[in-house]
Amino acid sequence: MTLTGGCQCGGIRFAASGEVKEAAICHCRMCQKAAGSVIWPFFTVERVNLDWTQGEPSRWRSSPSAQRGFCCACGTPLTFEPDGKETIDLSIGTLDEPAALPPTHHVWSQKMVPWFDTLSGLPRTTEPESSSGESFQHPDYGTKDWPREHKP
Ligand SMILES: [Zn+2]
Ligand SMILES: [Zn+2]
Repeated sequence: MTLTGGCQCGGIRFAASGEVKEAAICHCRMCQKAAGSVIWPFFTVERVNLDWTQGEPSRWRSSPSAQRGFCCACGTPLTFEPDGKETIDLSIGTLDEPAALPPTHHVWSQKMVPWFDTLSGLPRTTEPESSSGESFQHPDYGTKDWPREHKP
């Protein structure tokens, strides 16, 4: 199975093949900041099985032992890259089909925001799907003519 995905603007795209070593939700404070969210759903693959098919992430060294990759154009968080390991973590939310890779567990759950477990019980609304052309987001598949010029 090959998992494909990319950043919001489409400047960076990837294809990951081979075994998914882990699929989880991280609650650590660094992932909260890096994702701009209270959770970071991620999956882990061997680095040799990951291809950047369009562009490559910018990287910021978030600790002495790891870097995080992101798109410097649109800001999408893409990777956690520990030094000296043969694996790399990628954001599940950047997959073309995030529903296809359900996380199997939580990590750093001692840092979970206290209201996390109330989320599934909150009232729900649904909004109409916006028609294509109303956003500049890259579609959920590889394209040859992207990025396009943004119209004013
Ligand atoms: Zn981007
Ligand atoms: Zn984390």
